[in-house]
Formats: sequence, C-alpha cells, structure tokens
Amino acid sequence: MNINVYGKIKELINNADAILIGAGAGLSSSAGIDYSKESFKKNFPELVKAYGMTDMYTSSFYNFNTEEERWSYWAKHINYSFISPPPLKAYQELFKIVHDKDYFVITTNVDGQFEKCGFDHNKVFEVQGSYGKMQCSVGCHNKLYDNTDLVKKMLKSKDYLRVDSNLVPICPICGEKMEINIRKDVFFVEDDNWNRLNDNYERFINDNINKKLVLIELGVGFNTPGIIRFPFEQLAFTHDNITLIRINDKYFDTAYEIKNQAYFIKEDCSKAINRILN
Ligand SMILES: [Zn+2]
Repeated sequence: MNINVYGKIKELINNADAILIGAGAGLSSSAGIDYSKESFKKNFPELVKAYGMTDMYTSSFYNFNTEEERWSYWAKHINYSFISPPPLKAYQELFKIVHDKDYFVITTNVDGQFEKCGFDHNKVFEVQGSYGKMQCSVGCHNKLYDNTDLVKKMLKSKDYLRVDSNLVPICPICGEKMEINIRKDVFFVEDDNWNRLNDNYERFINDNINKKLVLIELGVGFNTPGIIRFPFEQLAFTHDNITLIRINDKYFDTAYEIKNQAYFIKEDCSKAINRILN
C-alpha cells in the first residue's frame, strides 16, 4: 500500500468532525483471537475426540444431548473468546486514534474487546449481542444476565465434558433453558441497553450527516453485510461530506460509484491500524 494513502487517511481523520467505526470478525481475528482449526485442535483436543469438532465456529452449532454438556462446551467457548483474551493491541491502537474525537462504534463482534480497550460503553453498539450475557432461550422477557461468574464456576467442574448439574441455568421467569445472547434465531433478546445504543447510533449519524464524517470499516465481510457494509457504502455514496475508509484483506470489492469518496486498503486490520497510528 502506497505510503501516501496512509498520509491522506491520517489527514482525513485529523480533520474529521466525527468518526464512525464499523467492525467485523476480520478485526478480532487479525488482532489475535485465533479461530483456526489448528488452534482449536491444540486447545480443545478433548472436544475433537468426544464430538469430532473441528473449529470454534461450526462447533457452536453442535447438537448436545444434555444441558450439562452444552454448557460445558459454551463455558470453554466463552472463556476462549471473551474472558481470557487480554485487551488486544489492535483495539488499543484504534482507541488511541479516535479517543479524543467525537466517535461511535457499531460492531457485529461479540467478544467485548472495544470495552476492554477503553472505548466508552455508551458509544459501542454490539448489534449481535455479547458472549458475556445470557438470555431466556425463548425470549420470554427482555432482560439479560451477566454470565462471567457462572462460566468461571463451570470451568472448574470435575468432568471436562459436563458441568455440575446445579450450575445449569434456567430462565427465572418461565423455567426454559437459558442461551448466550448472540443473534442466531428470532428469540434474540434486544434489552433496554441494546435499544438505548441503537438510539445513540442513529442520533450520532443524524448529528453528523452534514458534517465531515469519516467511516472506518474494519474486517467486515459478507455474513451480515446489511448491518455495516451496505449502510456505510450508502452513506458515502449519498453524501459528498462523508468518506469511507475500508480496511479488509479479504472482502475488498466495492461499488464503482463511491470510489471518489472512499479509500480501500487491502491489508490486515492490525497492520493498517498500526500504520495509521504511527
Ligand atoms: Zn423465559
């Protein structure tokens, strides 16, 4: 990537009235949360042996026979992705770039890294939920419950593949199973906090739609392009004062029409963030 492009991007960010960050899975994998098959095999040989699992993504759809086994699996998944990772450098550097700006974050990531790395929780909209929260599996009420303490207890269960039965959570209202608060079906709970952040997000866009607004899109692919990718393109396409910076080493293509108001960096997110900062 041409050094002048990074110079231009720094200038855009310095001169911006506001910065909107849109972050997808590519940011966290680049920052160091390793979802590869090799990593899964190394970290969870017992799960490979017992269930034939191959990686963290497909294993999350496994149909367990018992709640004790299901929660044992999820405790490991949540610990690996959410509890044990330290604040990751790429997120910390991204915070350094925007911390003194009027910024807002929308993300499909559910690993909590933005808050771990200093971002204001009133300015981070986790659209697809969080590994750190639980909900009623049939969404009978719209309250979320922190699961970190429970997960830590589950990880201490004597049987590696089953949590102790008294640790299996049930809905305090209807008695159904509990579920991680990540969007996978129509029962996904959007609680008061989710709605408040959705409002904050809309307000941020309305407040800045006629100002010098810079959109920084990081590692967003095509799993759910309707949440970040397409709306960002639309904003840049319809407003001359809005510039889109897309950073992605895989999903790079874009509508021809917005090329004059967009910078596309085909680069690993962590490397690009570091070059923008330094
Ligand atoms: Zn319920």
